[in-house]
Amino acid sequence: MTQTADQITTPQHSVEGFVQDFLRELQFGQGMSMSRASTNDQYLALARTVRTHLMSRWLRTLDHQRDVQAKSVAYLSAEFLLGRQLGNALLATDLEEIVEEGLASLGIDLQRLRSMEKEPGLGNGGLGRLAACFIDSLATMNIPCIGYGIRYEYGIFRQTFVDGWQVEKPDAWLAQGSPWEFPHPEAAVTIGFGGRTEASTVDGRLVTRWIPDWQVQAVPYNYMVPGYHNGRVNTLRLWSAAATESFDLSIFNAGDYSAAVRAQTAAENISKVLYPEDSTPQGKELRLQQQYFFAAASLKDFLDNVLPEGFDLHRLDERIVFQLNDTHPVIAIPELMRILLDEKGWDWDEAWALTQRCFAYTCHTLLPEALEVWSVELLGRLLPRHLEIIYRINEDFLAEVHTAYPDDELRVRRMSIIAEHPERAVRMAYLATVAGTKVNGVAELHSQLLRDKVLQDFSEYMPEKFTNVTNGVTPRRFVRLANPRLSSLITEAIGDGWVTDLDRLRELEPLAEDAEFRRRFREVKAANKTRLVDLLKVRDGIEVSPDSMLDVMVKRLHEYKRQTLKLLHVVSLYDQVRRGDLAASDITPRTVTFGAKAAPGYKMAKQTIGLINAVGRTINADPVLEGRLRIAFPANYNVTLAERLIPAADLSEQISLAGKEASGTGNMKFALNGALTIGTDDGANVELRQLVGDENFFLFGLTEPEVAEIVEKGYRPTSFYESNATLRHALDLIASGAFSDGDRRTFEPIVSNLLYEDRFLVLADFQAYLDAQLVVERAYADPDAWARSAVLNVARSGFFSSDRSMRDYLDRIWHAEAAPVPTA
Ligand SMILES: *Cc1c(COP(=O)(O)O)cnc(C)c1O
Repeated sequence: MTQTADQITTPQHSVEGFVQDFLRELQFGQGMSMSRASTNDQYLALARTVRTHLMSRWLRTLDHQRDVQAKSVAYLSAEFLLGRQLGNALLATDLEEIVEEGLASLGIDLQRLRSMEKEPGLGNGGLGRLAACFIDSLATMNIPCIGYGIRYEYGIFRQTFVDGWQVEKPDAWLAQGSPWEFPHPEAAVTIGFGGRTEASTVDGRLVTRWIPDWQVQAVPYNYMVPGYHNGRVNTLRLWSAAATESFDLSIFNAGDYSAAVRAQTAAENISKVLYPEDSTPQGKELRLQQQYFFAAASLKDFLDNVLPEGFDLHRLDERIVFQLNDTHPVIAIPELMRILLDEKGWDWDEAWALTQRCFAYTCHTLLPEALEVWSVELLGRLLPRHLEIIYRINEDFLAEVHTAYPDDELRVRRMSIIAEHPERAVRMAYLATVAGTKVNGVAELHSQLLRDKVLQDFSEYMPEKFTNVTNGVTPRRFVRLANPRLSSLITEAIGDGWVTDLDRLRELEPLAEDAEFRRRFREVKAANKTRLVDLLKVRDGIEVSPDSMLDVMVKRLHEYKRQTLKLLHVVSLYDQVRRGDLAASDITPRTVTFGAKAAPGYKMAKQTIGLINAVGRTINADPVLEGRLRIAFPANYNVTLAERLIPAADLSEQISLAGKEASGTGNMKFALNGALTIGTDDGANVELRQLVGDENFFLFGLTEPEVAEIVEKGYRPTSFYESNATLRHALDLIASGAFSDGDRRTFEPIVSNLLYEDRFLVLADFQAYLDAQLVVERAYADPDAWARSAVLNVARSGFFSSDRSMRDYLDRIWHAEAAPVPTA
């Protein structure tokens, strides 16, 4: 037998051994002596030292997979919002204590090195973070999985505030070194675009060929996805675009340097930046290029490199399921058809039968404008062969529908994959629904609304395809890593099995009645708040009182999420105190904390950010409030900040208009960290409330059927303005210029939107929200009872582990099985 990787490199699992490995890495990997090394050098050397502990497991996982040939999940996602890697790697390898001690012996603070890491911000928000949670869970559950996505050179922009307005800065996350990735230029695949198709007859068969007119290289960068203490390391493969020839030497030699690099630039642009949008379609050609680029590269990689040589493709569905995270990778469907038809020479029915067994689709939205469509003109220009295939899929499908509903031509037209208005366009969600084995929504209510509204015709025609998998979050990152104090308290009480079996948090339930446990639980929350207060001071120069209620609303800035409703609550309290209708001393001391990025092109969202900061500037400085009500808005909300904010929160704001938030996952993170939720009956809030109990959840607002009825009859926001003096005063205060140095125009668009256009019924839910906040205040006045509710929130939220989501996907959609990797 040849040497295994272990025998060659065995990294050492002891303090002395670690120190040796670290110093060797610093000197021979980083090329630095201890005395000259910067903190970043030390961080890079540490990352490289820790990753060697994962490498042998990674290689063993790959060998094992080659031996057992178990079915894999390919999770295709345009976004993976991973968060920092080092802490998770230390946790997965159980090295936290060894490394902390070893570094301390060298006079180095581990936390300081950890803070050097730039998080890979390769996602906008919930959708990308979900993908990261899912691959973590699959690794921990020993399920073979490959994540496929794009290695954006610039991730989600870094948000700064200038005079309270959002200013976007590029996120150069790779600039200081990227120790967690492994590039494989030798394994690059070529991806074509444009050109034309050519039909010919070969041996009496009609054969079509696509002749692209330009190509790019897709270079894989591999990332390790470690399971928790189980010896498995799965792979996340992110594609980077490169020119096929680095530049055209003949043009270059002739002196036309700019022409020579132009082709290179065009190619590299494909993976240059993440689109900073998550629920409005971007009619951008580059975005379609990105989608095809990573979908095609991933398919090719799996078929040519992951499958064993000579594999019979007719059995592809026994080895893989391609899960499509929203519509971004849906172009993989016609791509697989093209490969089978044009490259493998299969006939249509054979290719279609297989394709229909290999894909499943997750829908993430309820907003009709967020359902992705690509104009036929663009798709035909960029991917002419794929457009032909989509037409044929549609033709066959509509013929079937026509047979099923011979007298319902309207229905047939409604179900067409090709929309005719306002322009001819391909509806990607319909294509995915027609081609996939399953379509799932991401919370019970969302899946129901998909069936009843968004995809109603399809669910009537093929009800068996529709299913639900409620989202989840990984307890490793969002409890164990983010909240070490709570984790220790839980482990002390019930053992550490909860980290991989979150239902066991139920065992905490009796402790809600234990006064000593509640006292210690409150101590944990207080310590987390202090830690956050320190961070906000250093990171943002924001002063927060650790004694106030920490009321947190963190998520992308979107009208449907209704940050303005939260803001109107604050403005209203301020207004009431100014008028003398409310004594400042009667306000529960609160720090209303926002974290939110607005898509750069989303005017209303950027205005709202300006208004939040303007209100904050005014009320934080006004002595009339006696410091009892403050706004904190740290810039650049990301996973790293979430990990600090959420464990410190008392109150979680989940106040979207009912029927608009597909699931939400922020809501889950807060509940698991012992915050109580004030929320509407929307998304996964519905399930959260059912689990924790009405008495431990502050419900308010219209229900989805009530919303539908109001919208049907015609929503009249002015009636609320006219009949509710509190509301009128708050809106008038904003309109008066009180937060904009007397300038009435600055925030006029927000006020007039709320009064005349708002599709998200902010004014309709205003009074109910204020009333619910009074209930919150009364509850908070009894800290011990609050803690009791908070403990019950933790104990009853184990359902929201992404391990459970994975179990549901496995049972309902994937039908893959665990393949434990033997330990050495
Ligand atoms: C969890 C998470 C989200 C999603 O939050 P929602 O409240 O569900 O919208 C967005 N961004 C980050 C950084 C997250 O960690």
